[in-house]
Amino acid sequence: MSTIPSITLNDGRSIPQLGFGVWQVEDDQATTAVATAIEAGYRSIDTAAVYENEEGTGRAVAASGVPREELYVTTKLWNSGKVDWSGEQGRSRVERAFEESLTKLGLDHVDLYLIHWPRPMHGDSFLNIWTVFEKLAADGRALSVGVSNFGPEQLDKLRERSALVPVLNQVELHPHFPQHELRAYHAEHGIATEAWSPLGQGKDLLSEPALVKVAEKHGRTVAQVVLRWHLQSGIIAIPKSVTPARIRENLDVAGFELDAEDLAAIAGVETGKRLGPDPQHFDWN
Ligand code: NAD
Repeated sequence: MSTIPSITLNDGRSIPQLGFGVWQVEDDQATTAVATAIEAGYRSIDTAAVYENEEGTGRAVAASGVPREELYVTTKLWNSGKVDWSGEQGRSRVERAFEESLTKLGLDHVDLYLIHWPRPMHGDSFLNIWTVFEKLAADGRALSVGVSNFGPEQLDKLRERSALVPVLNQVELHPHFPQHELRAYHAEHGIATEAWSPLGQGKDLLSEPALVKVAEKHGRTVAQVVLRWHLQSGIIAIPKSVTPARIRENLDVAGFELDAEDLAAIAGVETGKRLGPDPQHFDWN
């Protein structure tokens, strides 16, 4: 089993730097994929209410035989645009959504609970949601709390309002879109950076000639080089795959080191283009 480094978060807890993501994996398939991942040595799983596979994920966690305290489970609040997340009613909705996630996962706590999207076009309802997150963290139902897809403006507002700083911000991040400014903001304020779509969703990034060259030099795959880059950059990455060989491949990123020349080649593929939507202008229904 490979050794996965961990990152210490601003609340003193630690998270494995490499985890397993299950977006776009159907519930039953999630059971198989998560079981394969845990068997391969992953100890961190990233799901979300909206992925509709918390039950499948929970089944694999329960059947794994790995002690609960050795597994790190993240899920996310689906603060969709259909309902009002402000006021007392909004806070009750958060409570109910959280309890529903716990029930589906079959757990009595999660390691990390995230606000999925900031949705700034709906005002500051994330601040109202965060007051419930403070409570969940205080009573240990969510051991750590954080956010996803937030920009500096929303993070500033949270920091002004609350003594509880998100432990991390999960955002789109890969060598095509390395998020230099946001990472600098995170570093300044003690917020860890977690990368979603760390492999660029397995698209053009993995056939970049410059990355193929680095991979050949190390006798590794491009996916392994990209994940190694995340680790060496201090980023937490949660690659997804349902293919057992790739699940194992993506974890097998110890035992080689990218040097300055490799890092320069990887920096050279930056396009500044996102694959997903811009969270500052994007709303979910
Ligand atoms: P990813 O970058 O992890 O790419 C996954 C795809 O890459 C796979 O479907 C497969 O096609 C390919 N792939 C995987 N391993 C490979 C390998 N070794 N060789 C070749 N191809 C390979 O993309 P993702 O699934 O979008 O992101 C990972 C996780 O991030 C998700 O599963 C989810 O948990 C999380 N996520 C969160 C948000 C958010 O808004 N918070 C958004 C998207 C994803």
